[in-house]
Amino acid sequence: MSALVTQGLGIRFGAFHAVADVNLSLEPGARQALIGPNGAGKTTLINLLTGIYKPSAGSIRMNGEDITAWPADRRARSGLARTFQINTLFPSLTPLLSVVLAIHEREGQGATWWRPFCRSKAAFDEAHALLARLRLDTLADVPVAELPYGKQRLLEIALALAARPRILLLDEPAAGVPEDESGELFDVIAELPDDISVLFIEHDMKLVFRFARRISVLVAGRVLTEGSPAEIGHDPRVREVYLGK
Ligand code: ADP
Repeated sequence: MSALVTQGLGIRFGAFHAVADVNLSLEPGARQALIGPNGAGKTTLINLLTGIYKPSAGSIRMNGEDITAWPADRRARSGLARTFQINTLFPSLTPLLSVVLAIHEREGQGATWWRPFCRSKAAFDEAHALLARLRLDTLADVPVAELPYGKQRLLEIALALAARPRILLLDEPAAGVPEDESGELFDVIAELPDDISVLFIEHDMKLVFRFARRISVLVAGRVLTEGSPAEIGHDPRVREVYLGK
């Protein structure tokens, strides 16, 4: 069963169809890229999947269940996590405390320090393990503002993972990250356990073709085509519309 499936998904802003008739499926363990020119509707599609926007048409199923009418918080609690294009971290907090707070949030008690769980060894052990998985363990106690930007973006992924998602939607995880750090960032994404399905928006074609196992191409709100990196790389329509070759 697919982790996430859309059928005929669309949204209009006035008369403008930002996303139209999108049939997308994300398989378990996917490392799937969503590419397309600026304004193609990629972020809008992620906003539809996470429940920030209500669709004007179509449906969304998660692990077989119709979630089209679910609000964003219910989708998040049921295993759908995302990151944003822009940095949403607290600059004066350390990575360790940021992750502990995110773990506490997942436990449904609000991120407040005086509750016992937040100070528990279990929360700190879990936070350390998560930071190690994202290669942030040596930076656990450095204030976020002092981290290299690529590490900050990794920390955002760590915060999303603290919710223990089954599906992770990454909106340009490498945006603004220098080239020498973006490869490592995607190495970490590639190493995530296979029980997490990942859909990522990325503009850098080198990264897309290195890390995606499947690519969906969105143009003017519609899926132009979808396939393996080899198929997409050889598709003349994609070259014409997107790669400009
Ligand atoms: P991409 O992420 O592919 O660059 P977006 O999803 O951000 O594209 O935007 C797709 C189109 O939808 C753009 O033309 C954008 O201006 C429009 N759009 C996105 N959100 C809104 C909104 N809330 N109201 C009106 N138009 C919007």
